[in-house]
Amino acid sequence: MERFPNQMACIEHLEKIRWKGNPKCPHCQNPNVARKNESQDEGKVGRIGRWNCFECQASFKVTCGMIFHGAKIPLQKWFLAISLILNAKKSWNAT
Ligand SMILES: [Zn+2]
Repeated sequence: MERFPNQMACIEHLEKIRWKGNPKCPHCQNPNVARKNESQDEGKVGRIGRWNCFECQASFKVTCGMIFHGAKIPLQKWFLAISLILNAKKSWNAT
């Protein structure tokens, strides 16, 4: 948990895992997306990590479409669950 002191750190890590540095819209799969301006929403949980798609005008988050989407639990717990899944996959591969 210490590596991920806040939601933004978790979100950025999830974005790296999911998109590998190339974010794309989960609705139309277009890479023509931009992170929403967050300066005026600073501190508002739930607004951080939002993206806009220029193709279909949808707004989305890295968690959109993931198994935890819509769950009302803190992102730190999502990340913990995801890291457990990744570790489990690793150990499966090792056997
Ligand atoms: Zn789109």
